[in-house]
Amino acid sequence: MVKNYIFLGPPGVGKGTLASLIQEEKNIKHISTGEIFRNEMKKKTKLGLEVKAIIESGDYVPDNITNEIVKNVLNSDEVKKRGFILDGYPRTVNQAEFLKENKINLDGVILLDASDKVIMERLLGRGLGRADDDPKIISTRLDVYNKKTKPLINFYKAENLLVTINAEGTIEENYNRLIEAIN
Ligand code: ADP
Repeated sequence: MVKNYIFLGPPGVGKGTLASLIQEEKNIKHISTGEIFRNEMKKKTKLGLEVKAIIESGDYVPDNITNEIVKNVLNSDEVKKRGFILDGYPRTVNQAEFLKENKINLDGVILLDASDKVIMERLLGRGLGRADDDPKIISTRLDVYNKKTKPLINFYKAENLLVTINAEGTIEENYNRLIEAIN
């Protein structure tokens, strides 16, 4: 049976790192909407140019754009065969409802949890590899997460899908907790 998971959690909590480790271990397809957008920006496609200013301001890309992209990816044969880890999607209640309307089966929503203090330290420590890792933009991204994404915690609790993992440890510690949770 293929497994489908969502990784939920604040920016910098390690969703991407852990999702790629799980992809290696279990061959489940890792899908990062942030990475899809960054690739489009690098290639200067129409989509990339459209979302660049929004992403660099720390805000979210409009739901209709993001939903359409995710729908296409989830409809691919590869994802149907391997299952998926959605990293960074859904990020709004509208996006979560979109998955439901499209009858996307979910086996679990893993909340990677860490305090604002730990998150701030990690993001600042990551340095300026990305335009949105500037200290001012980081604080916007945390505000946007708290306002637009945190409601998903109760949304998925109500669906009985939420599993919370303490993600304040090392990558190895967090990975072990995660493997335990999904096995
Ligand atoms: P992080 O988790 O560190 O914020 P991501 O790579 O997941 O990094 O996302 C980077 C940016 O891409 C977000 O700040 C947002 O602007 C945009 N983005 C990614 N996923 C979504 C989404 N599901 N909805 C709207 N915007 C998104």
